[in-house]
Amino acid sequence: MTAYSDNYMTKKIRVALAGNPNAGKSTIFNALTGAHQHVGNWPGKTVEKKSGSFKFAGYEMEVIDLPGAYSLSAYSPEEQIARDFIVQERPDVVVNVVDAANLERNLYLTAQILETGTPVIVVLNMMDVAQARGLPIDVDKFSQLLGGLPVIPTIASKGVGLDELRQTIASFAEKRGDAGQVFVTYEPDIEKEIEALAQAINEVPALNKAFLPRWLAVRLIEGEEDLVQMVKNTPGTERLQEVLSRSRQRLEEIYGEDVDVAIADGRYGFVRGLVRATQTRPPERRLTLSDKIDKITTNKWLGIPIFLALMYLVFQMVQNVSAPYLDWVDGVISGPITQWTLHALSAVGAPDWLISLATDGVIAGVGGVLVFVPGLLVMYFALAFLEDSGYLARAAFVMDRAMSALGMHGKSFIPMILSFGCNVPGIYATRTIESRSARILTGLLIPFMSCSARLPVYVIFGIAFFPAHAGRIIWSMYVIGIVVAVAVGWTLSRTLFKDAEQGAFVMELPPYRMPTLKGLLIHMWEHTSGFVRKAGTIILAVSIVLWFLLNMPWGVENPRDSYYGRISEAASPIFAPAGFDTWQATGSLITGFIAKEIVVSTMSQIYVGEEGEEAEAEPTSFVTDVKDIMVGFVGATISAGKELAEVLTPGITLFPAEEEEEEDQTALSRALQGAFTPISALAFLLFVLLYVPCVATVAAQVHEFGWRWALLSVALNLSIAWLAAVLVYQGGRLLVG
Ligand code: GDP
Ligand code: MG
Repeated sequence: MTAYSDNYMTKKIRVALAGNPNAGKSTIFNALTGAHQHVGNWPGKTVEKKSGSFKFAGYEMEVIDLPGAYSLSAYSPEEQIARDFIVQERPDVVVNVVDAANLERNLYLTAQILETGTPVIVVLNMMDVAQARGLPIDVDKFSQLLGGLPVIPTIASKGVGLDELRQTIASFAEKRGDAGQVFVTYEPDIEKEIEALAQAINEVPALNKAFLPRWLAVRLIEGEEDLVQMVKNTPGTERLQEVLSRSRQRLEEIYGEDVDVAIADGRYGFVRGLVRATQTRPPERRLTLSDKIDKITTNKWLGIPIFLALMYLVFQMVQNVSAPYLDWVDGVISGPITQWTLHALSAVGAPDWLISLATDGVIAGVGGVLVFVPGLLVMYFALAFLEDSGYLARAAFVMDRAMSALGMHGKSFIPMILSFGCNVPGIYATRTIESRSARILTGLLIPFMSCSARLPVYVIFGIAFFPAHAGRIIWSMYVIGIVVAVAVGWTLSRTLFKDAEQGAFVMELPPYRMPTLKGLLIHMWEHTSGFVRKAGTIILAVSIVLWFLLNMPWGVENPRDSYYGRISEAASPIFAPAGFDTWQATGSLITGFIAKEIVVSTMSQIYVGEEGEEAEAEPTSFVTDVKDIMVGFVGATISAGKELAEVLTPGITLFPAEEEEEEDQTALSRALQGAFTPISALAFLLFVLLYVPCVATVAAQVHEFGWRWALLSVALNLSIAWLAAVLVYQGGRLLVG
């Protein structure tokens, strides 16, 4: 719009007053403009239009009193006028008049005005009423949370604060254009679609000039009828319309018909977070159910213990519910599937090497990883439940103070929790953090969060070396990861990130919701299928390559003499101080960089293959196998159900133990017992926990933060992992003697 430069020359500023009905807009309008008013109608509407002007500090200010509105949706003519004026006429500044005594209700509109990207001044009017009701507001914090936006407390009916408002409008006009705008961040599913749509909008010149792409994207996803129609009537929007219908389809799969409700929830979450952080509420207020639950979950003393207990429950569930299936899947893969492949291949006369490639290479490698799918399903289901129900946002809120001690914001917490599933979505989830340095710092700490790909390694080693304490060993790996992240975060925020601006942002607190089963299943499957896809692609490829490296030059007797053995052997002395300087351990760590699950699949190939063909049981028949599988599945289902019931009723023994502990040993754990001592096993586990995240994570870091930071992250991980492993091994030897 050209008005920008013209206005600047003549020092003319257009100010729009926006707010809920009865917030005090007209009172402010009258006080500002005095007698210089003009009353007419909005073109084509019966709604009254009042405009006026005043001079201040060398500026000619034109003020437009927009009709009172609760939102900027086109529900009513008033709201549509307010919306179109702000978005299309683009006033130099919107003065958003807020009734401070009804903060939560009024701020919904504020959230929407912020989204338009127009420069905003927030006026907290009716401060006298708010004060009288015992609802004081921390104005500085309020402004800080909105990215330093001017926030002016007023009592318009008494003229209090209006001078400051005039002053602010004038000085804001001087530096307009560089308003650091704060946006509502929606749920990750929605954000993904907003981003895709905004990009498509950006490619349409007719639209990207007229609208802030993100704003239009949100409104289109919300399904704002007249805007959808407007897009349809704009030439050159075919691709955009396609992207839109696909986005809406994907979101409908998750939210059903209620995509607009989910968006509104996002804004309410923003508002609630802002209010909770800036206004002390009197005790006698009527509380909604959400408020009542919040009183407990965000309680200063109870919040963190509740969070820790919930996470403990999640991991117990993952372990207990998935353990029986783990045995079962392992049995099916190393039993019938291997057997059948063997039979089928020899029946068609396949050469020995091909049979070995298929069974020792592909099935051992990929199967060794697929064994963990049941555990992942449980884990992702539980994480999705915590996230979709709105609980994770509370956890982040509660952790805010603890996180700020690490130089981080509470918002860093959710990416870190999500990283327990997989570091890659964790890295991308840092996008919700507004400040770049806070985002990078979080991105550097994420690799220390133990992702599910590391879980197989803990399980295998835990079972092999600490059968009585496997659960505790696994749990402590997660805790150690967190402790290391805390220590590194503490150090980095006092050194490398010392000068980073400590931005404060609103923490969205969406209303609690019963997650829909469909949404949970979609999220669970999205993540697990990523894992399965990895098994079917990268891990498959690495398994095949590895098999060749292990069997070349052709005819090697001892895998140690193979190419792979020689490379690993050459690198292994690095790990001598950590107690696992064997070529096998080194080799599996090298391939583990591709994906940490591969540590296990590599070991399955190296160690189990090494153990000899002793496990070659007598061939079984197809029918007995199928029967075994069915029986195994039913048995696993029942025992999983029992264990889940036990987990959910801590302290009560529902099912007395049946003394059937015949040790959940897989072929690999047995083989490992000969290769590691408990201390070197522990050192190895620590190394696996802390060393370089997989290539996919590094790629995500490069994508989000650039090469330099990704490299720093790799170096940081390698050195910390090595130090920790050496420390544990040497310390352990001293202790044990
Ligand atoms: P509008 O609907 O936003 O234009 O609101 P008005 O300007 O018409 O104000 C609604 C009512 O609130 C009027 O009776 C005003 O006198 C009163 N009012 C406006 N500002 C304040 C204030 O800061 N404190 C108090 N106590 N009353 C106010
Ligand atoms: Mg009015």
